This record gives sequence, structure tokens and C-alpha cells, in this order.
Amino acid sequence: MLILKRSNVLLGKQLLMSEPNCQKCGACCRALPSWDGPDIYVRLNRYDLDKLSIGEKEKHVVPFQDEYGAIAALGMVDRHCSALKGQVGCEVSCEIYENRPDICRAFEPRSDQCLRARDEAGLVFGE
Ligand code: SF4
Ligand code: SF4
Repeated sequence: MLILKRSNVLLGKQLLMSEPNCQKCGACCRALPSWDGPDIYVRLNRYDLDKLSIGEKEKHVVPFQDEYGAIAALGMVDRHCSALKGQVGCEVSCEIYENRPDICRAFEPRSDQCLRARDEAGLVFGE
């Protein structure tokens, strides 16, 4: 569970009054500044991997396995998911949006994780 910083709490109050525009954000598709792990972004299970087209796999999937069922991962480029197009905080899109992994579909705008990602990216809500 994330511990909210004071700025997150303030942002949370603003979020209650405004709808996030994910196409002008993309903060959750970017590694946190503190990330020092491997150059992978989203871990993929068999179901996630099977949804991707051959071209999407060739372009974005990298070898990865873990003990929690991941059999591959989406790669990371310039410290963001390789499927993210555009510039975080400006105009962004997901190149595999129709076939994106379940964890991306489950990520909720206005959640604690959303607030943290935006805060870490230096984005003021409502921009
Ligand atoms: S961090 Fe929140 S507002 Fe930004 S793209 Fe992700 S879900 Fe949308
Ligand atoms: S697959 Fe799409 S939604 Fe998921 S992290 Fe990558 S760019 Fe973001």
C-alpha cells in the first residue's frame, strides 16, 4: 500500500473535482525516478502475451520470467514503456491500446497509484 505524501492528498482533493485526461498524461507508463531494476516495464502472463499481434510482440516484447507467472515483458525505452508514444505530460498514446495487458486495463485514474505516478512526474492535476 502506498503512503500518500501531503501533495498527493491535495491532488486527491482536486481529482474529486476534475476528470483526468490520460491522453495528456502517461505518467503511469513511465518508470518512477527511483527505479533501478531491469529495462522491462509491464510483466506479461500467457493471456497478455497471446493477445498481442505478431508485429506487436516483435516490437515491444522482451524476454523475462518471474516466479509470479510472468513469461515475458514489455520493454522499456527512455525509462517508459516501449508502447508509449508521445511525451509524458503532453500528448501520449498507447501503441497497443486494443491489446494492452490486463494490469494496464485495471489501472484506475484517480487511484492512489495514479496520484503517485503523476506526482513523481511533476504533473499538476488539471493540466
Ligand atoms: S497516471 Fe492517472 S491520469 Fe495519468 S495516464 Fe495514468 S491513469 Fe491516466
Ligand atoms: S501497454 Fe500501453 S497502457 Fe500499458 S504501460 Fe505500456 S503504454 Fe502504458
